[in-house]
Amino acid sequence: MNDPEMPRAREDSVAVSENAGTLYVVATPIGNLEDLSPRARRTLASVDLVAAEDTRHTRRLLTHFGVRTPLFALHEHNEDRASAALVGRLRKGESVAIVSDAGTPLVSDPGYRLVRAAAAAGIAVSPVPGACAAIAALSAAGLATDSFLFLGFPPPKREARRRLLESLCGEPRTLVLYEAVHRCGELLADLVTVFGEDRPAVLARELTKQHETFHRGSAGDLASAWTVGAIEPRGEFVVCVGGAPAERADTGESERVLRLLLAELPVSTAARLAAEITGMARNDLYRQALEIRAENGGGA
Ligand code: SAM
Repeated sequence: MNDPEMPRAREDSVAVSENAGTLYVVATPIGNLEDLSPRARRTLASVDLVAAEDTRHTRRLLTHFGVRTPLFALHEHNEDRASAALVGRLRKGESVAIVSDAGTPLVSDPGYRLVRAAAAAGIAVSPVPGACAAIAALSAAGLATDSFLFLGFPPPKREARRRLLESLCGEPRTLVLYEAVHRCGELLADLVTVFGEDRPAVLARELTKQHETFHRGSAGDLASAWTVGAIEPRGEFVVCVGGAPAERADTGESERVLRLLLAELPVSTAARLAAEITGMARNDLYRQALEIRAENGGGA
C-alpha cells in the first residue's frame, strides 16, 4: 500500500525506485485500546505486512480491530537479519508497518535498526503517532515539561545506576525513566541517596488502565511509601524526577566547607553535613563535592 492520504517522506539524498513501499512506524495502545487512532487502524489494515515484536501479542490486538494483515517477527534478537529482509520487500514495492508490544516503536523498543536501514536505502519512513508511556506520564505528572531528558531503563545494577544518577545530579531538566516493578524500590532509594530526599518525583503507574495511579511527592516521600507498601507494587511504572534547582551564585562558602569535610568523609556524608552547615540544597552540594573529588583525582 502507498496510501494517497498518507504523507510520503522522501529521502532527498538517496535515489530510490518510485515503486518502493513505505515503512510506517505505528504507535499502539499502552493499556486502553481506545487509544489506537483511526489512522493507525487503517494503516495496519492496508499495509502488506506488519513487523511486530511479539507476533502472538500483536495478532490479538489486530484481531480485536478486525485486521488480518500478515505478521513478521522483528525483535531485538533478529533485528539485523529481519531488517534486511524487510528492506528487500519495501524496495520491491510492499508497504510495511512496524509496531511494538505497546506504545511507540523504537522508544525503549526494537525498530531503530529497521528504520535506519530503510532510510539509508532511500525508503520513505512515516510515523503514525500515538501512545507513549513516557509522554503520557510527563503530560500528567505536574513537573516542568518545557525541557526534559528521557533516560529509558536505567542500568539494572546498583553501582552503574548510581553512577548514572550522579552524572545527572545537577541536571536542571525533568528526568523520565522506565523501570520494571521489581526494581522500582531500589531506584527510589538511589534517587534519595544521590539527589536528596527533597527532589520532587512522580510515579505514574498503569497508565490508561483501570488502576492508573499517580503518586506525587518528594523522592523521600515516595521511597518511604514504597517501603511501607503504600504504593501497589504491581503493573508498569514510569518514574519522573524534577530537575535540579538552579545553582546558587555564591559557591565560595560551600566550597570551603566541602573541602574541609571531604578531607575526612565520603562524598554523600560530606554533602549532607555541608547542607546542614550552609543551609544550601544537598543535591547541589553533592554535585559540587563530586566535582571537587574529580578535580583532585578522587581525593579531597
Ligand atoms: N515503547 C513503549 C512506549 O512508547 O512507552 C515503551 C516500551 S518499554 C519496553 C516498557 C516500559 O514502558 C515499561 O516497563 C514501563 O516502564 C513503561 N510503560 C509501558 N506501558 C505503561 C503503562 N501503561 N503505564 C506505565 N508505564 C508503562
